[in-house]
Amino acid sequence: MSRLPEIQINRFQLAILLNDEQMQVYKLMLEKGVFCRQCKGAAPKGILVKEIWLSNLNDIIVRGTCKVCNGNVSRLMELGEDKAFYKNANNFRKGLLID
Ligand SMILES: [Zn+2]
Repeated sequence: MSRLPEIQINRFQLAILLNDEQMQVYKLMLEKGVFCRQCKGAAPKGILVKEIWLSNLNDIIVRGTCKVCNGNVSRLMELGEDKAFYKNANNFRKGLLID
């Protein structure tokens, strides 16, 4: 099987990909679960999302900045092992090719 390309998606596309539960986890992650090197812990006030990527394993990668120190942060949300999500993500990729 060939490797999937890493593709950048927008927040609307993310909302289509995630179910309600996953969206809750995603939001919680942005608020409390992203490590900031400069703050030496989870970004205290959460992060500002700059880029969202669908990785070659169909995980979600978020890149942004810490709301406190403005340092660059990133976080991987492992979803590719969720079979339903993986299938959704692949269907989503196919849709992009058609457009
Ligand atoms: Zn910080």
